[in-house]
Amino acid sequence: MLTKIPEKHTMEEFKLLGSVAEDFGRFGKTNRKCSRCGNDFEYYKNSSSSQTKCKTTDCLERISRGI
Ligand SMILES: [Zn+2]
Repeated sequence: MLTKIPEKHTMEEFKLLGSVAEDFGRFGKTNRKCSRCGNDFEYYKNSSSSQTKCKTTDCLERISRGI
């Protein structure tokens, strides 16, 4: 599994994104809010990758491939 980790993220933010992706994978939604701006997260998935991102542009974002 290759995971893109933008350098601008702290380890705490990266862990949050991981938890959010897990929530979406398990429940199809999450109650977690972005630790930077307080906005909601959204989650996209297709056959080759998944993307977890804050709804605010250029905020927290994580893309995972090969799941
Ligand atoms: Zn945000």
